[in-house]
Amino acid sequence: MGFYVALVHYPVLDKQGQSVATSITNLDIHDIARSSRTYGIEKFFVVNPIPGQQWFAHRVIEHWLEGFGAEYNWTRKEAMQITKVVGDLEEVADDILCDADLPIVFIATTARKMPQQISFELLRKKFGQEPAHYCIVFGTGWGLHPSLLMDIDYTLEPIVGVGDYNHLSVRAASAIILDRLFSPHFDPDRHSI
Ligand code: SAM
Repeated sequence: MGFYVALVHYPVLDKQGQSVATSITNLDIHDIARSSRTYGIEKFFVVNPIPGQQWFAHRVIEHWLEGFGAEYNWTRKEAMQITKVVGDLEEVADDILCDADLPIVFIATTARKMPQQISFELLRKKFGQEPAHYCIVFGTGWGLHPSLLMDIDYTLEPIVGVGDYNHLSVRAASAIILDRLFSPHFDPDRHSI
């Protein structure tokens, strides 16, 4: 049983609601890798089908794994060691299935309230009761494209603040969600992952 994170750059929505591929942001790789490592995530997948974007992401990761970065900051190296660049969610599934023959459960995240979303509490319960590989999928741009949500097992309820302003960055949202799902604070009985 394992827990995974995927940051999707295609298909996502643009401001006009069109399907686009977004560029990888260096800060997203760093921050979400560090949050993933902090909460015991097995692998953090940077998902982008564009070769030039994959090259960029590999360069960032290698700098901290082998280059000057590895000497300069070992904590960043540890976060990058769980970070992998892939083209789409199929590749994520293939990679995860190499680990064991448990089912994979994909959970999408969004700032939008939608019908049939799963609560943080219920998802934490599932973690304890239904052995599987769980992959939490984050979007970029203006959110995950609806076509991607069709193949997803669950959509997690959104983080809500106070009032109707709700425009968190994916870096902020992923840290909050990982804490709510994996911090002992929310579920003291859970064994460490
Ligand atoms: N309006 C977009 C949406 O509804 O997802 C916001 C896109 S946000 C810049 C990029 C990603 O961060 C989202 O795809 C989602 O994965 C995550 N995210 C942002 N705000 C969130 C929230 N309030 N609750 C859950 N996830 C959020």
